[in-house]
Amino acid sequence: MSLIVQKFGGTSVGSIERIEQVADKVARFRADGHDLVVVVSAMSGETNRLIALAHELQERPVPRELDVLLSTGEQVTTALLSMALHKRGVPARSYNGSQVRILTDDAHTKARIRQIDDQRLRADLAQGCVVVVAGFQGVDEQGNITTLGRGGSDTTAVALAAALQADECQIYTDVDGVYTTDPRVVDGARRLERITFEEMLEMASMGSKVLQIRAVEFAGKYNVPLRVLHSFQDGPGTLISLEEDPQMEAATISGIAFNRDEAKLTILGVPDMPGTAYRILGPVGDANIEVDVIVQNVAADNTADFTFTVGRADLERAEEILRRIAADLDAREVRSDSRIAKVSVVGVGMRSHAGVASQMFAALADVGINIQMITTSEIKISVIIEEKYLELAVRTLHSSFGLDREPRDENTA
Ligand code: ADP
Ligand code: ASP
Ligand code: MG
Repeated sequence: MSLIVQKFGGTSVGSIERIEQVADKVARFRADGHDLVVVVSAMSGETNRLIALAHELQERPVPRELDVLLSTGEQVTTALLSMALHKRGVPARSYNGSQVRILTDDAHTKARIRQIDDQRLRADLAQGCVVVVAGFQGVDEQGNITTLGRGGSDTTAVALAAALQADECQIYTDVDGVYTTDPRVVDGARRLERITFEEMLEMASMGSKVLQIRAVEFAGKYNVPLRVLHSFQDGPGTLISLEEDPQMEAATISGIAFNRDEAKLTILGVPDMPGTAYRILGPVGDANIEVDVIVQNVAADNTADFTFTVGRADLERAEEILRRIAADLDAREVRSDSRIAKVSVVGVGMRSHAGVASQMFAALADVGINIQMITTSEIKISVIIEEKYLELAVRTLHSSFGLDREPRDENTA
């Protein structure tokens, strides 16, 4: 008998019929003798619907109120799933984040979990109850409702698994595991048997939205065995763990990640002297704007061009700041471009294999894609390209690094 935390995403609880199917699954696990804590997301589309309602009223609603609104989505599904379990004769109790006491900081809409009080959950489990917890939400020291950022139910599940020292945290979703790249973009994407926390963290940070980044960080930090599985199909899913897959030694690259969420800013003709980078990026950082890729080129006339990327949502604010800095630095020009995308190849095998970067650049050159910026880490290489070439780039790299699935045998009629 083991303690399992299971999380069901939005599409898996998107209708009463689906909630009934989830209840069947949970009931089967319980019949097998497992203790279960089940975390649910809001019904698919619900969080977006609530955000749109708020924006009908106000362009920038106060984050505290937005959190009160957004947390309702998950409360609905906890109650419905508990009812569906009762209908099957399974004792179950639903809780929202503040009832469990998932204590967070007060950073509304992107709060971080600080502590979880597991007493209530343990008492219910001891009585044979399935505990159903609302994902994506917590409460701050003052008792205000907070939310954990989009996709945050994954983090709720992992944090509960860590707090309860669960045997496994199972993330049920609409794909049967973590793929070499988003299967919605590349038909030939392949399910991975295993991936390390480190690789998954790079994949998630680089845009693979199958797991929230913070959930992966948490799982790595507390060594929570994490598995991504399909809600309604049987299969082994993908195990995310500390160790590499022993059979995967030959593969240098585990996956291709991408995102369209960034924009690029360039300031041209700034003085090439100590302190310039700080004078440009200092005020951007002070405004709480995250900077990702940075490139500086020095020209012959002792000036430099400085380019960096920020989240698209921050572009307008960052550009305003940069125009002010440009005046101070007597820069020639400020340019901005939001039609960019980032593509990354990720794999721990890069540590022991040379030539990954050149293979990547050659593959992109072959299909005529220009690289605007490059950044690397020990297990990742990312390039910024024009957005319209994103899908071509992902497909090209996927096959260049040998990640495509064997074509299905078309002759078996
Ligand atoms: P949920 O609502 O269950 O949390 P998400 O939509 O957040 O589900 O995550 C599942 C989706 O993530 C899949 O439908 C898939 O399109 C997308 N995805 C992106 N990258 C990957 C990847 N590398 N492997 C699997 N799925 C991915
Ligand atoms: N409902 C929230 C969202 O859509 C949290 C989640 O689904 O994980 O972002
Ligand atoms: Mg999700």
